[in-house]
Formats: sequence, structure tokens, C-alpha cells
Amino acid sequence: GLMRVSLDVQTSTALFARIFEYLDLKPSIVDAPDATDVADGPGPMGRVEFRDVEFRYSDASNESTATLNGVSFIAEPGAHVALVGPSGAGKSTVLSLASRLYEATSGTVLFAGSDVRRVKQHSIIEHVGIVSQETYLFHASIADNLRYAKPDATDEELIEACRAASIHHVIETFEQGYDTIVGERGYRLSGGEKQRIAIARVLLKDPPVLLLDEATSALDTVSERIVQEALDAAANGRTTITIAHRLSTVIGADLIHVVDHGHIVESGTHAQLLAEGGLYADLVAEQLASSRVLADEETLAEQE
Ligand code: ADP
Ligand code: MG
Repeated sequence: GLMRVSLDVQTSTALFARIFEYLDLKPSIVDAPDATDVADGPGPMGRVEFRDVEFRYSDASNESTATLNGVSFIAEPGAHVALVGPSGAGKSTVLSLASRLYEATSGTVLFAGSDVRRVKQHSIIEHVGIVSQETYLFHASIADNLRYAKPDATDEELIEACRAASIHHVIETFEQGYDTIVGERGYRLSGGEKQRIAIARVLLKDPPVLLLDEATSALDTVSERIVQEALDAAANGRTTITIAHRLSTVIGADLIHVVDHGHIVESGTHAQLLAEGGLYADLVAEQLASSRVLADEETLAEQE
């Protein structure tokens, strides 16, 4: 189609800059002249570590309190780590630092054993896949939106990724198929469909690290289940850091960190944290109660 562009590294950097424009985030990160690649790190690929990280947003109105303080954790290659906690606790900020969209005010974030401040930003971006509530699609065909993740992907690869992300059967119903123009002024995909395109992008990109920010919270129950299954498939074999809105999605995590007021206040498996009877147990009880209220309301509605 007209919009077909060959995406070399420079173009994708330009597109990446456009994402920042769109999100109104200015890339404030400047690479050191001797910056390295993630692959040159002394540690294993896919390992993410936070060492005593403090972070303040430069425009934060309250200068006295840090958004993150003393945050330390390790996500070993292939491990599934979950972050849970109240809204505003700092969970999304952790993911921004993990992908070096921002840098720690003090302390160190390490990617494959390298301090991210000494790694090229584009190299980090190449090694992470991000799925969040807001999926940005370019005003271009679905195929081009997918090839943004892997410029040389064959049509077969696109289809394979979309099958795994449970979106191929939807694209097939479009008159223009993979040539359908989406994005601003284009065909309007639903939130769940956009997220499954984002998951297909991750599968094409095949990064060692996957960052999921409340990826299914904006969806209805049916789309949520479909997207969750696609996410589980995408997480398989990669380091995954998940921010979960619904605690049921993190029960199987290798390690759950409970974040509150910018601190990790509890860490453990679901069973360990429940037994501890702390904030995690409270959050679980809260969600159970609200799901019961919902169930009761449905029962009442059925009886009417
Ligand atoms: P969570 O994901 O746990 O809800 P966030 O990491 O999004 O929490 O936010 C943590 C705190 O940082 C909140 O007080 C929020 O208002 C603040 N914050 C988030 N993003 C920015 C930003 N870009 N600039 C200034 N403050 C921010
Ligand atoms: Mg958040």
C-alpha cells in the first residue's frame, strides 16, 4: 500500500520519538559516548535488577517525597515477577525505569548485569516488549504496525504471531485484511483488539524481557480472558514483570512484590503473602469482597 515504509533502525528510532511525542514524554535520556549494547552485559540476558533505587519526577509538585525509595529486587531470566499495590504506589514508575524511559535519581538499575546508564537506550528498547492499557497504533496498515516490531517479518510470521495473540481470526474478517489502515482516522479497533495487536508485536519482536502494565484492566470479562491467555503465551520463556490490577492474574507469579508509597513493603509467593496477613492479604480480601458485591448485584438483576 501507499503507507508501506521500510523500517530500518533509523526510521524506527524516529517512530519511537513520535511515540514519545504522542505520550507527551520528552526523551531526556542521552547516551554516553561509550555506551554499550545490552548483549555485551556481564550478566545473563533477561536479568533485570533494581539496587536501592530512588526516583523523583523532576516536575513533581512535592519535592520532599520520592516516588520510589529503596526499591531493590531481582527478576532472574525467565522469571515471572508481579508488582501489586494501591494506585499511585509507584508500580508504573518501576517499569519506566526498567525500560530506561527515566533514570534512577540514586541507586542502580541493571539490565543483563549492566548499569542501564551505560547502555544505549535503543538497545534496551530492542530488548523489552511493553503491553500497557494504551496501545498506540500508527496511521498505517495492520501489517506495517506489526512490522514495526520486526521490519523483515514475512507474511507467514505476521499470521503466526497474530494467531498466537488470538487476533488473526478477527483481521481475517476485515475486507482489506492485514492491509486495513488503523490508527488515527483509520479503522477503529476495540481496546481488546488493539492489545492483542500489541501482544502480536511482542511475539514478533521476541524480546527477553516483557513488561505488562495492567494490560487487561480496561477490558470486559470475555476480552480479558482472551487477552490474558495471549499474554500467558507471550510470557512463556521470558522475564516478565507484570503490574496486575486483578490479583487473580498474579497468583502463579514466581515472586510478588507489594508496592506502597514508593517502597516494596512485602515480597513472596501468593501463598506466602496470604499467610503473612499484611497488605497483600488485605488487597485480596478487598477484591474478593467487591467481586462478591458484583456477583450479588448480578443475581439481584437476574431476579428482577
Ligand atoms: P501506580 O502505577 O502504582 O499507580 P505510578 O508509578 O503511576 O503509580 O505513580 C506514582 C506516583 O508518581 C504518583 O503519585 C503519580 O502521580 C506520580 N507520577 C506518575 N507519573 C508522573 C509524571 N510523569 N510526572 C510527575 N509525577 C508522576
Ligand atoms: Mg500504574
